[in-house]
Amino acid sequence: MNTMDGKPIIRPAVVCWSCKHFSFEGGSPGYSEYTPGYEGSMDCAKNVWSSDLSGLDEDGLRVRLTTAERCTKFEPRKTS
Ligand code: SF4
Repeated sequence: MNTMDGKPIIRPAVVCWSCKHFSFEGGSPGYSEYTPGYEGSMDCAKNVWSSDLSGLDEDGLRVRLTTAERCTKFEPRKTS
């Protein structure tokens, strides 16, 4: 696995975004009343944490995404 600039990752983090049960959708702006946008979202398919992002600050996001350090349902995401 490499970083965005092509360098190898030498210390992979055990975080939820490296788990196969994690998903993220960045949302989309609305273009018209007929093509409304939608909010971004992230989810744990095992429901270990809530997908509700309302009221979540940076510290809360860090705590949530480092759940993987102690989660028994963690499974590494396959990378190509
Ligand atoms: S909480 Fe567990 S199962 Fe859910 S995404 Fe994180 S590591 Fe994976």
